[in-house]
Amino acid sequence: MDQNSPRAQPAKQDSLEHERLSSLINSMADGVIAIDDAQKIAVYNGATLNILDINTAITNKQISSVLALFDKNDQLVNVSRLIAQTNRPYANRDFRLKYKDGSQISLYMSVAPVQLGYGQSGTKGHVILLRDITREKSLEEEKEEFISVASHELRTPVTIAEGNIGNAQVILDKGGDKATIQEALRQAHDQIVFLSEIINDLSTLSRAERDKLTVKIESVNVHQLINDLLNDYSKKAADKSIGLRIVFDPSLELLNTSKMYLREILQNFIINGIKYTEQGEVVISVKKVEKGVQFSVADSGIGISRNDQARIFNKFFRSEDYRTRQNSGTGLGLYVTLKLSQLLKAEIQLQSELNKGSVFTITVPSLPL
Ligand code: ADP
Repeated sequence: MDQNSPRAQPAKQDSLEHERLSSLINSMADGVIAIDDAQKIAVYNGATLNILDINTAITNKQISSVLALFDKNDQLVNVSRLIAQTNRPYANRDFRLKYKDGSQISLYMSVAPVQLGYGQSGTKGHVILLRDITREKSLEEEKEEFISVASHELRTPVTIAEGNIGNAQVILDKGGDKATIQEALRQAHDQIVFLSEIINDLSTLSRAERDKLTVKIESVNVHQLINDLLNDYSKKAADKSIGLRIVFDPSLELLNTSKMYLREILQNFIINGIKYTEQGEVVISVKKVEKGVQFSVADSGIGISRNDQARIFNKFFRSEDYRTRQNSGTGLGLYVTLKLSQLLKAEIQLQSELNKGSVFTITVPSLPL
């Protein structure tokens, strides 16, 4: 028997194991880096280069020279010190990695002290895991901001209604005047109505965000839809002595889209048109375009400043203009409208001039049934 063969066998196994491990590490989506006790890079996988946005080998480089990390207060992190002080596994998801071009990503990083290699010959070092969590972070931030804004918006009407009902009770107990009590109750009632408007908008919003994949496309008779909307809102317009009329393109055909969402979008434009117009009219125009149908709702109202135009589709945004504030509103209508239009693959355009009026246009494509 060959003298060397008993030793050759484990060596072969070692190399097989080594191959398996490296293919495992290379198939990981997270960056994995092993550094030695001098903090020089010993091993790394392909994902590391993607995350660091480097296209040259980084073996033997000092880890601090390739990792420009910033903490959540935007302070540069001393990577060498951080690693040197890590004597048990550590993880942080508040880091940001900055690239040379100024762009940055949110980074999860974990560091664990390890023994690199086997037995006596193995040196000490660390294994670092890097994960790009930019998407998760931005979703988290959006959610946090939403909760904080929504709770603020809900708190305001609740506080006013509570105050008014409390006052009504005190006046009643003191045998006060009936008209004052009625006025306090009326104001409380208005706030409760407003509260239910916010809740309705919030529920439409959550539906729009959840129903991403389940938009029901049907063949919509555009004439009928617009006539229904005209009937529904004529009274509201007439109450303010504002005209409401439609201009049809005679060549209109059926449009394949979600009737429910299209109706909701146009409804929001019409309600706003009437709400933010003191005199004149609101005109709904419908015309056939190459890919589908273009709807526009034009009013002769208060208009929207350039500055506000960039923000009116934001959640809870309402203009500071006193004429806006004279009307109740949640600032959710246009945000919901934008979400719904994305579900319909439709495009919204806005033209507006302060004190002259606004035109909201939506181009809705015909979708496959
Ligand atoms: P809401 O009307 O409940 O405040 P929206 O999301 O529908 O909320 O609209 C956001 C803001 O955009 C309004 O508060 C108003 O400032 C402005 N806006 C929307 N439509 C018009 C319009 N037709 N004319 C003038 N301002 C408008």
